[in-house]
Amino acid sequence: MTAEQSNPSERAAETGTAFDAVVVGAGFAGMYMLHCLRQQGLSARVYEAGGDVGGTWYWNRYPGARCDLPSMQYSYSFSEELDQEWSWSEKYSPQPEILAYASHVADRFDLRRDIHFDTSVTKASFDDITKRWTVETDRGDQVTAKYCIMAVGCLSATNKPPFEGLDDFVGPVYHTGEWPHDGVDFSGLRVGVIGTGSSAIQSVPIIAEQAAQLTVFQRTATYAVPAWNEKLDPEFEKSIKDDYPEFRAKARARPTGVYFPFNLEPALESTHEERIAKYEEFWARGGLPFLGAYGDLLFEKDANDTVADFARDKIRGIVKDPAIADLLCPDNIFGCKRLCVDSGYYETFNQPHVKLVDVSEHPIERFTKKGIVTGGTEYEFDAVVCATGFAAMTGSFDKIQITGRNGLTLAEKWRGGPRTYLGLSSVGFPNLFMITGPGSPSVLANMIPSIEQHVDWMMDCIAHMEERGADTIEPQLAYEDDWVEHVNEVSKVSLRSTCSSWYVGANVPGYPRVFMPYIGGFPIYVNRCNDVMTGGYTGFDISGGGDSNAPPEICWTEKWHVELDMEVMTPAMIAAGRVPVI
Ligand code: FAD
Ligand code: NAP
Repeated sequence: MTAEQSNPSERAAETGTAFDAVVVGAGFAGMYMLHCLRQQGLSARVYEAGGDVGGTWYWNRYPGARCDLPSMQYSYSFSEELDQEWSWSEKYSPQPEILAYASHVADRFDLRRDIHFDTSVTKASFDDITKRWTVETDRGDQVTAKYCIMAVGCLSATNKPPFEGLDDFVGPVYHTGEWPHDGVDFSGLRVGVIGTGSSAIQSVPIIAEQAAQLTVFQRTATYAVPAWNEKLDPEFEKSIKDDYPEFRAKARARPTGVYFPFNLEPALESTHEERIAKYEEFWARGGLPFLGAYGDLLFEKDANDTVADFARDKIRGIVKDPAIADLLCPDNIFGCKRLCVDSGYYETFNQPHVKLVDVSEHPIERFTKKGIVTGGTEYEFDAVVCATGFAAMTGSFDKIQITGRNGLTLAEKWRGGPRTYLGLSSVGFPNLFMITGPGSPSVLANMIPSIEQHVDWMMDCIAHMEERGADTIEPQLAYEDDWVEHVNEVSKVSLRSTCSSWYVGANVPGYPRVFMPYIGGFPIYVNRCNDVMTGGYTGFDISGGGDSNAPPEICWTEKWHVELDMEVMTPAMIAAGRVPVI
């Protein structure tokens, strides 16, 4: 009988409430974690606040929502059969299709039977005597597990600014990250949208198609590069599927875990004419790869100025009213906040029923019964959309009372910013793993390979512990401190650390300003994780069991041994931490 057939999770559930592992969240991270735990014959319970699998793609159903990495790459790689049987319809597939993919994965690997939906984990506490976690939910569940795995998502806790008078507004207020499942019909309505990040960039053109009047409240102007989205060419799809593993491996060796053309030359060594030609070439390709036009754009302010000027010229070329174009032109570093990928965003402002309101000088003062007041003017609406983003990286952790050894809570420990070893775990919280936690490449890489690499590392680690009968694994303080310092140091090399983005928690009032993801490059990070593992879990204390810090005999994560792609980075760049993570 296989581990799948014997279903240890059901056995654990029947006999009580003790599991090998509890997983919080059933997005792509929690789903893959559950699949792997089962493969190792371990019992698992997954809790998911939403009503089904999919995470981001379950919640973000706003009009125009889609991925901005190519779907052929923004997908799981762990199953060759899955890779072959699934077909994406577009280069950047829309949210319903990505959600359908998540649902297909859940069906195919029979995941739902171990997932409790519509259930939020409220507390997780470590017992130093039993060496187990007790996990509690808002439905009154109380279960224990040896391993507690946080798959809560980097962009899943919505940021809802506490606007004064919000409850006075008589119309509906939607957040893009909690969109109604039966959709919203804006036909004939006066609609206000707050925010100009990726969610607004995607939704504004479509809301404008329906609304009678649309007003966008802009606090910071945004750079957006056209997606040039298109139907996926079957010939192209076939060419990838003919050797998908090889293609995936090539992508993993790239700084962001995504494969696309990249020019390593410095912008500052080209003439103005050469640069314009290069920018035009990359603009025609569109999307995030535009940042691959030159290797120094995110490191040298003078180089960045050249691409920022080019992008501003593009905006002025699209938007007919020069005053509106000026307002839409950002004056900050290009790509410093996460670059947006658009389909007709700037063009939307040429339509007579679309208005742009600058709230940089005069913030939104309050909501009223009829609408929004800013700069002394009341704007009347039938509906308002908050495209105000997320409490990124740490927001979902903050919502759970996580108590580790000696009563230490994660919130207290992270008050000055998140502290982890490799973004995988944190001192004081034994056997608590974080999938794409702060301090890992996470949001600065293709998230699905980032998730798979973390889960595979954790599964190797858990197998290692189980083989030796070990009780707990926990990072050592000196290694955690060094890693936090390294994450911080590497971030300073990049221009990205200089602006007020969600990467540094600056979008949420009261959050400490710390650069949270690891910007040193995905394959470099992966190799570091491998070295830690093959060195016998260097920097971790493993307690109980024999010879637990001896090098493991097997690593079933062979695919994560990455040869760096030296076409897109040089030894000097790696040494200086100037790996072009775009
Ligand atoms: P999530 O998908 O966020 O899932 C986490 C789940 O945990 C959620 O379902 C949540 O309900 C649940 N949860 C959290 N706390 C609790 C709790 N206390 N109890 C129970 N359940 C809980 N990344 C890319 O690489 N490419 C893209 O193109 C891309 N596009 C994006 C578009 C949007 C609109 C957004 C918001 C993000 C996008 N991302 C993209 C990032 C995206 O979040 C990741 O790619 C990926 O989907 C994350 O998966 P996850 O499972 O780690 O987290
Ligand atoms: P975001 O990038 O954080 O944008 C939020 C917007 O709301 C910003 O323009 C912000 O202004 C504004 N805002 C916040 N509080 C405000 C306030 N009190 N008053 C006025 N404006 C306010 O959030 P997001 O657009 O949801 O995107 C978050 C991330 O999710 C993206 O960066 C990306 O990683 C991912 N995502 C990806 C896609 C995709 O294309 N695949 C789509 C959506 C999201 P400031 O800039 O001034 O703070």
